[in-house]
Amino acid sequence: MQTPKFPKGKPPFSVVLKERVGAYFAETQQKITGDHRLYWKAAILVLAFVALYVHLVFFTPAWYWAILECIVLGFAISAIGFNIMHDGSHGSFSNRPWVNTAAAFTLSVLGGSAFMWNNKHCIIHHTYTNVHDLDDDLDAGIFLRLSEHQKKYKMHSFQHYYFWFMYMQLYLFWILFSDYKKYFTRKIGDMPLKKMSVMDHILFWKFKVINLSLFAIIPIWMVGFTPWLIGFLVTTQIGGLVLSLVFQLAHTVEDTTFPLPDDANKMEDEWVVHQLKTTANFATKSKIVCWFVGGLNFQVEHHLFPKISHIHYPAISKIIKQACAEYGIVYNEYPRVYQAVASHVSHLRHLAKIS
Ligand SMILES: [Zn+2]
Repeated sequence: MQTPKFPKGKPPFSVVLKERVGAYFAETQQKITGDHRLYWKAAILVLAFVALYVHLVFFTPAWYWAILECIVLGFAISAIGFNIMHDGSHGSFSNRPWVNTAAAFTLSVLGGSAFMWNNKHCIIHHTYTNVHDLDDDLDAGIFLRLSEHQKKYKMHSFQHYYFWFMYMQLYLFWILFSDYKKYFTRKIGDMPLKKMSVMDHILFWKFKVINLSLFAIIPIWMVGFTPWLIGFLVTTQIGGLVLSLVFQLAHTVEDTTFPLPDDANKMEDEWVVHQLKTTANFATKSKIVCWFVGGLNFQVEHHLFPKISHIHYPAISKIIKQACAEYGIVYNEYPRVYQAVASHVSHLRHLAKIS
């Protein structure tokens, strides 16, 4: 398939941003990758995951404790995804490639394929953000209409009510269906999948078996089928909801746009401006939100500089915001989480009403 091209700005805004952000790292003499702050957080999250898993599976707490621990486990899994896997997949976790690979493969242990994520997220989503038919993040099958270019079905009239339930299913859908669909069709949406080496095939299946053992076979063996099923559903529903919401708040809100290529297959804006128009930040002043979502509340900075670790986003956001103001380029931001959620619901309601 012919992918659309982004025009070059005059002077390219990308050059302005790169120079200013580059100057910040030169002045402060910091690496663009993670540092002790990120490694401490990663250690805490992995430890929390292991402690919860071991307690739930091998020490079988009372049912009410078990439910509570499964809820916390859902949050811990999401946080590992945001903070360790996501930075690792972009190569920003560490300046050592093997550490990034290990961080990226936490996803495979948790059930999703690191190979598919690299294709879907790091390549397609980050290049063609919010472009209908290319950005796979907009594709929720027939269940949800996330952009005005998608076909409207009758049930979409109620999507601003039932989307919560659909988001809760994301994790299950991901590990049980969408990875396999990509694997067997060799496609992500309409885009062909990057060629898989023999090692990619082996790793894909090896980690699917590891995940099945960790999340189904061992727990069923230890606690029995019904308690496992309840715990598994609670954990995956919480994980699915948290993961979906955080990723959707960045691109499918009222202020973000959904540009299409023109008849000559050219996009209207240069790539960095396209990213600024299609992406939004939220709750950037909240240290707790920032810590938990791995800087994904600074999605503008992430989309402009995906190779820079999220621990630097609060600092470089000031530089980017200032440059956008000087050049009259939009910088989307919602001060609080509830405002971003309200905007996402309004966006879904708007798409439920228009044809
Ligand atoms: Zn990313």
